[in-house]
Amino acid sequence: MTEHSRIPLAGVIGSPIAHSASPRLHGHWLKRYGIAGYYIPMDVAQDALKDVIRALPKAGFVGVNVTIPHKEKVLALADVVTDRAALIGAANTLIFRKDGRIHADNTDGYGFIANLRQNAPSWDPAAGPAAVLGAGGAARAVLASLIEVGVPEIRIANRTRTRAEALRQEFGAKVVVYDWVQAGTMIDGAATVVNTTSLGMTGKSDFRVPLDGLSPKAVVSDLVYAPLRTRLLEEAASIGCAAVDGLGMLIHQAAPAFERWFGTRPEVDEEVRAAVLNG
Ligand code: NAP
Repeated sequence: MTEHSRIPLAGVIGSPIAHSASPRLHGHWLKRYGIAGYYIPMDVAQDALKDVIRALPKAGFVGVNVTIPHKEKVLALADVVTDRAALIGAANTLIFRKDGRIHADNTDGYGFIANLRQNAPSWDPAAGPAAVLGAGGAARAVLASLIEVGVPEIRIANRTRTRAEALRQEFGAKVVVYDWVQAGTMIDGAATVVNTTSLGMTGKSDFRVPLDGLSPKAVVSDLVYAPLRTRLLEEAASIGCAAVDGLGMLIHQAAPAFERWFGTRPEVDEEVRAAVLNG
């Protein structure tokens, strides 16, 4: 087989990986756009990461998504790291270039903002402070993107306060740290509210943050997408807020990667949502 007639392969590496929705998502787009490629979930142990990354391009891979626990470590294996991946300190997308170089990017922040813009079109980042719950990996991408689009102040509360303080150190004076017990107070007067914790996710602890201070004008987003309508989103919608689910972020972050690997910019619409949800 000659180089140019190879079937393009992509996939996702992580551990565990069986739960990942990405194969359904990319598989749907490959079929929809008639692209003769494949997207494969790969369970890769930490000590095998380097060998696997080096071998994949030789086997016909054009790139991979990267998920827990490899998102930070892959940065050291890349030849080129985008500014936003460097700022976030993690990559979710690798592109294996024809010249042999490995390009690392992070599209989570892009996906987060694109999802808000699509599903809350009147959202104005400059309308007021944002309140972010959580300070883990996803919060870093959310913070970087909120700063990039011009949110004037970002309030952040995390169960482990030191992690929130570390983000303030890194992302600067726009970030204001609140105690986790003040998370409800922090929401008061916020124009944008984002849950980046795993609270409310199926199998995890319940989301119990008081929402009395939530303004009906706020745009509220939950990164948790299983269940799709979380308690936060249900309560936000019930008082009239725009409530944006996490599935849209998952799909939006995948679109630029698909385009880089397979050459077609895919649509983010109801059809792909249904494909991910109904498997
Ligand atoms: P992570 O790095 O492990 O961070 C988890 C966060 O949740 C931390 O802030 C942690 O606080 C907090 N947390 C966990 N259990 C808690 C509890 N019982 N009480 C209070 N806080 C708790 O995970 P991540 O990668 O940031 O992901 C976080 C969530 O976002 C997950 O549900 C993930 O599925 C979702 N996510 C969605 C998308 C999407 O595209 N929609 C993308 C990325 C992530 P501590 O620091 O105190 O532990």
